[in-house]
Amino acid sequence: MRFYKEIQVKERSLDSVRCDMCWKTFSSLNWGGGAYDINDTSVCMTTGKDYVDDIYINEEIVFDICPTCFKNGLVPFIKSKFTGDKSED
Ligand SMILES: [Zn+2]
Repeated sequence: MRFYKEIQVKERSLDSVRCDMCWKTFSSLNWGGGAYDINDTSVCMTTGKDYVDDIYINEEIVFDICPTCFKNGLVPFIKSKFTGDKSED
């Protein structure tokens, strides 16, 4: 015979997200957009191993950057690094 007891399981859910560039806080990773809006930004690097049954994360670097800072700050910065010179490839 099995006897069961009720337990409470704690879950983590996203409460808010703060842009790493402008430090504004938003209620979701939709960055203040409506329920049907797409406002997805992603700046991350993950290294590790992906086996059939397990994934081993070696290093993960994630920046949360809002769409405004992505477009007005990150994109111009990255474009400023483009030289157009492909002679070293
Ligand atoms: Zn921002």
